[in-house]
Amino acid sequence: MKNNQPVRAKKHLGQHFLTDQTIAHDIAHTLDFSASKNVLEIGPGMGVLTEYLLEQDIQTYVIEIDPESVIYLKENYPALSNNIIEKDFLKYDLNEVFKGASFSIIGNFPYNISTQIVFKTLEMRAQIPQFSGMFQKEVAQRICAKEGSKVYGILSVLAQAFYHAEYLFTVPPQVFNPPPKVESGVLRLTRKDNFKLDCDETLLFKVVKTAFNQRRKTMRNSLKTFNLSDNLKANTIFDQRPEQLSVSDFIALTNLLENDQ
Ligand code: SAH
Repeated sequence: MKNNQPVRAKKHLGQHFLTDQTIAHDIAHTLDFSASKNVLEIGPGMGVLTEYLLEQDIQTYVIEIDPESVIYLKENYPALSNNIIEKDFLKYDLNEVFKGASFSIIGNFPYNISTQIVFKTLEMRAQIPQFSGMFQKEVAQRICAKEGSKVYGILSVLAQAFYHAEYLFTVPPQVFNPPPKVESGVLRLTRKDNFKLDCDETLLFKVVKTAFNQRRKTMRNSLKTFNLSDNLKANTIFDQRPEQLSVSDFIALTNLLENDQ
């Protein structure tokens, strides 16, 4: 039995508590723990997902910024108490806890920090074999989009360079308290076996971001700041717009730029 007052939903922390136990169970079972038995849940709130993580044979850690939620979690999930990190996920150095070990990520976290959460996950990809999360539906679709799609963008290319991205299911507003104004979508990222890319990875991030900053232009125009040689500019890859290029095209392009004299 829960013996604590429910947490009041605070808007500035993006709190929309999931109230549907079946959906909570399903999200908590989206990860495959064969690569790592550690899981970090971002923004557990009142623990609706945490409860279904704790019933699995894994080590569950949670990171929660809201002191009121932390009190609630400590009172209601004593088994979790030593694994509660009361910090901002975006700012905290996770290796204070994980010390270089692998961990998967899961969460129903605020929409307004969800893309930053993915960027931090990409930075720490060497330690993160898998990631499942709830997003605003359009953001989840964008991350999973393929080249040629109107919503294909920076996060699609960068996430899919290192991870297989799967859109799992849509979640309606009514199953949250308070309900958000938008539909949500759950996605899963599973790291590729070979996630060391055959190119300068830092340069790839720069190329992708620069190209999509002007997504209507051809690559020749949007990559002007890279001072391409005339010889390279003649390559037909530069006739295209960024949304037409696959992840492997971007990797090939990064190598062309690196070798351009
Ligand atoms: N996962 C819970 C709560 C969802 S609301 C559920 O499904 O019901 C989003 C949660 O993320 C809240 O508990 C909020 O306090 C927490 N949160 C917001 N910003 C955060 C941050 N930067 N780091 C960690 N947790 C955060």
